Amino acid sequence: MALVNKVLVIGGGVGGMCAAIQLRKQGIEVDLVEINPNWAPDGAGITISGPTLRALREVGVIDEVLRLGGHWSAVDICGPQGDVKMTVPVVPASGADDLPGAGGIMRPVLADILGHATQRAGANVRLGLSFESMVQDEAGVDVVFTDGSRGRYDLVIGADGVNSQVRKLVMPEFPGPKFSGQGSWRAVVPRLRENSTIYMGATTKAGMNPISDTECYLFVLDRREGMDFIPPSEWPEKLAELLEEFGGQVGEIRDGLRQGTLPNARLLYRPLAGHMIAGPWHRGRIVLLGDTVHATTPHLASGAGIAIEGAVVLAEELARRHYLEGALLAYAGRHYDRARLVVTASGQMGRIEREGGSLAEHTQIMRDAQQKLRAPL
Ligand SMILES: Cc1cc2nc3c(=O)[nH]c(=O)nc-3n(C[C@H](O)[C@H](O)[C@H](O)COP(=O)(O)OP(=O)(O)OC[C@H]3O[C@@H](n4cnc5c(N)ncnc54)[C@H](O)[C@@H]3O)c2cc1C
Repeated sequence: MALVNKVLVIGGGVGGMCAAIQLRKQGIEVDLVEINPNWAPDGAGITISGPTLRALREVGVIDEVLRLGGHWSAVDICGPQGDVKMTVPVVPASGADDLPGAGGIMRPVLADILGHATQRAGANVRLGLSFESMVQDEAGVDVVFTDGSRGRYDLVIGADGVNSQVRKLVMPEFPGPKFSGQGSWRAVVPRLRENSTIYMGATTKAGMNPISDTECYLFVLDRREGMDFIPPSEWPEKLAELLEEFGGQVGEIRDGLRQGTLPNARLLYRPLAGHMIAGPWHRGRIVLLGDTVHATTPHLASGAGIAIEGAVVLAEELARRHYLEGALLAYAGRHYDRARLVVTASGQMGRIEREGGSLAEHTQIMRDAQQKLRAPL
């Protein structure tokens, strides 16, 4: 007999959608509510690490991701003028030798692929909706939605992101995410190289990762004292200032930002915050997933990856355990170490960048973490 027959997923980001898809494969009835009526995330590029590609294969969307995204099997490390100093191969995740070492895609394109897969899988998706209240007893959770409709569920999955309302309800003691001291800048630019590329300046590191056959995204992290709001009208000049020391293609992008000749660059600035909540990640029949419990800075480009892996692990544990409490404990028990590795190693890399620390230590932390994440789930 199935442990749960009817599940509510709150939040239609990567984690929530993958959970819905994996549970539908088991014949479980799934309702998914997403607060955004357009179901469309920021228009930024996102990197999909090798382990994330492996998890997307498990979910069943890898062909579309590889067709519509970009991918690479090596990283060129360049000086500030774009001269290649070293090329480092990117090894696929264990058990995924048929996949590229890493990939990239526009976030809305990934959301679209997963959104269609969620609907094809038979989940009942309702947009522009959230929960108003949830009350649980031993046998289920009664939910009132923001449109006044009601439902009763065997399990509720809170996948509503870093500022989760579900978390506020079930873990009111948690103070919320902490600002990391850095901000992230991204821009979409033409793809000129086969490989992913890192440009090492004296004070700034910039990178470019392919997101399709023709485009890549530029990423830069900067130091920030606080989570101050920067008006979008100031973004081109602020990003150009960060790229001051670069020549080559990065220098051309800087000049283009200043001259206003990059109208399709889709710039995005985000201050970075994160947290790692100790397990267990459930209270009774309400369980948390993805950024709600492990939100990371993007240094290892693995935040979405661990949200997807978490969804896969949660669905597997629900399928193979004989009582719900055991399945939910096993989910956090199995997934916690990988998530913690991503959050803590990313945090260490950010600290070294902020404090101008050792590049060798930074590289070692990144390599060690990537090696461990390649291991099977
Ligand atoms: C600047 C930046 C760059 C990043 N780059 C990368 C990268 O390159 N690679 C990578 O793997 N990861 C990256 N990440 C991390 C990644 O974006 C997150 O870890 C991932 O999106 C988490 O997925 P999620 O489903 O848990 O949450 P989210 O993607 O945040 O999804 C949560 C969903 O819940 C919805 N929601 C919110 N509140 C409610 C509510 N009350 N009711 C209903 N719905 C609600 C939201 O609209 C959203 O659709 C980056 C993060 C940042 C900030």
